[in-house]
Amino acid sequence: MKSIPLLAGLLCLTVLAPAFADDLDDIKKKNTLIVGVKDSTPPFGTLNPKTQKISGYDIDFAAAIAKHLGVSLTVKAVESSQRIPKLISKDVDMIIATMTKNAEREKQVDFSYGYFITGQKFIVHKGKVNAIEHLTNAKIGTVTSSTSEKQLKREMPNANVVLFNDYDEAFDALSKGQLDAVSTDEPILAGLLNKMPNKGQFEIPNVSISLEVYGIAVRKGEKRLLDEVNKAIVAMEQSGEAEKIFDRWFGPTTPVPLIRLFKINAK
Ligand code: GLU
Repeated sequence: MKSIPLLAGLLCLTVLAPAFADDLDDIKKKNTLIVGVKDSTPPFGTLNPKTQKISGYDIDFAAAIAKHLGVSLTVKAVESSQRIPKLISKDVDMIIATMTKNAEREKQVDFSYGYFITGQKFIVHKGKVNAIEHLTNAKIGTVTSSTSEKQLKREMPNANVVLFNDYDEAFDALSKGQLDAVSTDEPILAGLLNKMPNKGQFEIPNVSISLEVYGIAVRKGEKRLLDEVNKAIVAMEQSGEAEKIFDRWFGPTTPVPLIRLFKINAK
């Protein structure tokens, strides 16, 4: 008979003690999803100085994921080098910020399936470069802690790689004649080239040094949240919403027309 109260106590404990809350529970509880995005990287994320709103391809994905989770969206601007630190320190719940998924970063964060695919290229003064050899000893700007920095240092050991906090600053230096080139993912180069006052003097030759698959980063081990993110983006592909977002920012009438050579799938 003695064991009955003990058993009842145990059952009670099981029912009353909540399982450890994870990030998905926390997001639902606070009723908002906080996403780290770029604010000076058109067309992925740009701040409108008048409205103080950030919009772009990445923000549309963030909004769709917040909607899928049934919560509101809060965005916070992050530089490339701040993405992993701000995710780990819980400043944001996830990162959707032109972030390439790779094995090195996967030691610190978990990534969704790829939601954008591109490659690293160069923007240079018109007519000067049509092969990688023309840039062997060049002064090339890029951003700290980006995959672009790592690849430049690996692929072009004799180049002088100059590091900036964001791509805006690198383009400013290129505009002022302080660099031979800026190198990063092609659509970022095209988006910023479009904003240059002297854009007629520059071009992006067909010289690529990498394949970049962008992923949505969450904290390591947050499996339930990651499953929901993956479910949301696969559903967006199936419903045509992902293609619609691509067309909004990269369609034929936009300043950065691109052909969509990928589909979002379970990879
Ligand atoms: N996609 C690359 C990266 O994740 C380069 C662009 C960027 O700095 O966001 O590092």
